[in-house]
Amino acid sequence: MEATKSKIIFENNNAFAQKLDKEDKLKLYREKFFIPQHNGTDTVYFTGNSLGLQPKTTQSYLQQELNDWATFGVEGHFLAKNPWLSYHELLTNKMAKLVGALPIETVMMNQLTVNLHLLMVSFYRPTKNRFKILCEAKAFPSDQYALQSQIKFHGFSVEEALIEIEPREGEFHIRHEDIYEAIEKNKDSIALIMIGGVNYFSGQVFDMKTITEKGHSAGAIVGFDLAHAAGNINLELHNWDVDFAAWCSYKYINSGPGSVAGAFVHERHLKNTELPQFAGWWGHEKESRFLMDKTFIPMQTAERWQMSNAPILSMAACRASLDIFDEVGMLALIEKSKGLTAYLEFIVEEINKQKNNCLQIITPKENRGCQLSFVANGYGKDLYKQLIDNGVIPDWREPNVIRCAPVPLYNSYEDVYRFGVILLNLLREKG
Ligand SMILES: *Cc1c(COP(=O)(O)O)cnc(C)c1O
Repeated sequence: MEATKSKIIFENNNAFAQKLDKEDKLKLYREKFFIPQHNGTDTVYFTGNSLGLQPKTTQSYLQQELNDWATFGVEGHFLAKNPWLSYHELLTNKMAKLVGALPIETVMMNQLTVNLHLLMVSFYRPTKNRFKILCEAKAFPSDQYALQSQIKFHGFSVEEALIEIEPREGEFHIRHEDIYEAIEKNKDSIALIMIGGVNYFSGQVFDMKTITEKGHSAGAIVGFDLAHAAGNINLELHNWDVDFAAWCSYKYINSGPGSVAGAFVHERHLKNTELPQFAGWWGHEKESRFLMDKTFIPMQTAERWQMSNAPILSMAACRASLDIFDEVGMLALIEKSKGLTAYLEFIVEEINKQKNNCLQIITPKENRGCQLSFVANGYGKDLYKQLIDNGVIPDWREPNVIRCAPVPLYNSYEDVYRFGVILLNLLREKG
């Protein structure tokens, strides 16, 4: 009943889980979120990797903008408490800190897939000899479609141009050595490396620093999709010398369904006037933007890629969440996250002892954030549905993977314990 994990001896009982919660320095943050209910009690919400929960402060941030809109109409661009003209700037510093970027390298705009496309317009510039894109196999579907359509848009064939690195036969995650080998092998033809910093399916975290180094030595541009990384793991985009990145804010960053996304472009590209880009008025130099002249003069920050005026309501929700992140800090979150996920791993192993090792964790032990993905061998989607019926909200990925993300801001050790009890009961009932 005991196991050693990072100095703590875990125990599989509720009193122990409650004790860990009591000692948790971030325990009060759970109170700051609305936890979805099931039969009058908190659900075990393990899908913060898909849609983060709503901070209780979000409504007041939104209400402020609704009130200012009601009061001022168009004048709110200047007269609102937080003038809309520059509202997006209120998000920049805090978001930059979350991803390890300089503020000038960071902008909140659009949606994730849109940002990937806009950044590829500038950074995927294939030539006859150098036209390939390297990505991980089983990239998120939207990323696959984005990459394929970019390749076709430039007149190349996906078959020739897309290199997808797969896990080896019988393995669930990708070996970094296989990525490095593919980069080396294609060093004369590779134009772009575009990988999900944390794989959405397996939860594997990639070594973005080394991939960037190796990509650059091969003459490639290196970009990352950070949908499952931002707000989950430590990121140092600037120091790692990453060329560009994009991420959404509605997963770990709790900014609400479809909320505004983030984009990063490394400082060294910002003033490069040779870079092609799609332009819009919000990327125009600020001082002369409203002269409405026909010549586009790009800003010299990541805002250069911003095309449209900012979606204030979704930015207000994002601001509410960033204020919480800023107060807690990624370091404290990551520390708790390691403990919570280690406890979940322990609980899964405890179930395995009683149920013939039917649960196979496919997330790597070392390179992971808070998510654990596991295969429930011998059980189908009805297991997932019964978890939902019993107040646990994980998610299901075809063909047979259950993903659980205990997130450090609002999940508790007791959540993890309760998850274990409910899952074991279901497995027992099913025989
Ligand atoms: C969630 C997610 C997306 C979603 O893209 P949207 O443009 O926000 O709809 C894309 N890529 C990855 C890797 C994701 O995890």
